Amino acid sequence: MIVVLKHGVTEEKKTQLIHWLKNYGLQIHVSDGEFQTVLGLIGDTSRVDMDLVASLEIVDAVKRVSEPFKCCNRKFHPEDMIVEIGGVKVGGGHFVMIAGPCSVETEDQIVTVAKEVKAAGADMLRGGAFKPRTSPYDFAGLKAEGLELLRIARAETGLPIVTELMNIRDLDLFYDVDVIQVGARNMQNFDLLRELGKVNKPILLKRGLANTLKELLMSAEYIMASGNERVILCERGIRTFSDYTRNTLDLSAVPMLHELTHLPVIVDPSHATGIARIVPPMALAATASGADGLIIEVHNDPPHALCDGAQSLRPEVFADLARKVRTIRKVVTE
Ligand code: PEP
Ligand code: MN
Repeated sequence: MIVVLKHGVTEEKKTQLIHWLKNYGLQIHVSDGEFQTVLGLIGDTSRVDMDLVASLEIVDAVKRVSEPFKCCNRKFHPEDMIVEIGGVKVGGGHFVMIAGPCSVETEDQIVTVAKEVKAAGADMLRGGAFKPRTSPYDFAGLKAEGLELLRIARAETGLPIVTELMNIRDLDLFYDVDVIQVGARNMQNFDLLRELGKVNKPILLKRGLANTLKELLMSAEYIMASGNERVILCERGIRTFSDYTRNTLDLSAVPMLHELTHLPVIVDPSHATGIARIVPPMALAATASGADGLIIEVHNDPPHALCDGAQSLRPEVFADLARKVRTIRKVVTE
């Protein structure tokens, strides 16, 4: 249920109404926009007399929210959410470019790539220290040491770092990570999501390999309902019957998610396609679709990468792509 207040309602009257609603055991999500205030009611609203609420002098409208996701529902929060990471903003017209290798391998590798992507205009550095791998025999990341190397790369470049947490037992190691990534395979690890709801850091939530948009939003809801509102969604390709790419990049998810939620939506064309030469055209298409950012794998020596070399761009290719992305952004924001 949402309660839209009339323009110019006093703080006192608003607070009185919120207290009254809270007495029914409801959680109240307040969204103060430029033109209107929206109260999102979460919980069992059946005991509240909504006709009475609708008749209050300060109330403009009462609307039922039928979707099962509430905190991340745009109806609760009509304005885009802007997530701030250090000096970097994403959402609400702020576009972010996140780039870096699939996994952190050596100090030289991560620092070299970080410097190159920064020079090309990237806003944040990605790099996996804990890697979910299909085979238990594959390189699974440098773990704590990988996080140390990311810190060195951040110190050298000033780029905030984005890296994946697979298991909540490792959370302490992530104390100064700028953005915690939840990978596609963990999108429905509900215990992990609940715990990340208690963390004071932005969460990059990737869509699962075979998950619907509603399921993605329900996963965001787990994090937000536990107290952490700063969630960035990521479309990274889904499983279909397409046989020549690693996944199918579902770009219609971008405008659809923008309708459904106020959360920023970014796109990962690297895991979506699995093929470096297909990444630039899909990154441009993602930008044109209205995405709030891109996360792209870049490696200084793709043939020797320990993970995902085939889909990793060389730094100079990324630099060329970043220039074109900026051109497309101009058209999108015209
Ligand atoms: C990654 O970003 O390195 C990754 C493993 O992505 P995904 O979870 O989307 O497969
Ligand atoms: Mn990867």
